[in-house]
Amino acid sequence: MTFSSELTHDHACCVTHALEAAQAICHTKNIRLTPMRQRIFELIWANHKAVGAYELLEILQREDPKAKPVTIYRALDFLLEAGLIHKVASLNAFVGCSSPEITHHSVLLICDNCHNAKEVPAQEVYEAICDISTHNAFLPQQLTLELHGYCKTCQT
Ligand SMILES: [Zn+2]
Ligand SMILES: [Zn+2]
Repeated sequence: MTFSSELTHDHACCVTHALEAAQAICHTKNIRLTPMRQRIFELIWANHKAVGAYELLEILQREDPKAKPVTIYRALDFLLEAGLIHKVASLNAFVGCSSPEITHHSVLLICDNCHNAKEVPAQEVYEAICDISTHNAFLPQQLTLELHGYCKTCQT
């Protein structure tokens, strides 16, 4: 499992790991990673930056001019549902999940300069917020933790 998103890392390893994990998960869940779904997954994993649906469409249309927005949206829905990618709500964009094989709560550290979105575990934070919610007799349905700032590389 890797949570690394530094510029110096061997990104091919991230992609290989992500693809293997995705194939294993689809096999276990008995769902199909069709060639189109896999291609969009690969495009999302091209780097650790959050990528929007229209950006994905533009890239895909260079390979297949007939690609339509609905193709992208259907694939994104599938990948989200399968837990293989995360939606970055504050950017209306997507990133590959770093550890799809385990149930996890994480926070996304989003760099406002290079748009790298690093996923780090934040189980304690989720528990603390759920406690607050319980104390207020509130029934939580969805919690998104996204922190904006500057990554190590962009701080200089
Ligand atoms: Zn994740
Ligand atoms: Zn950065």
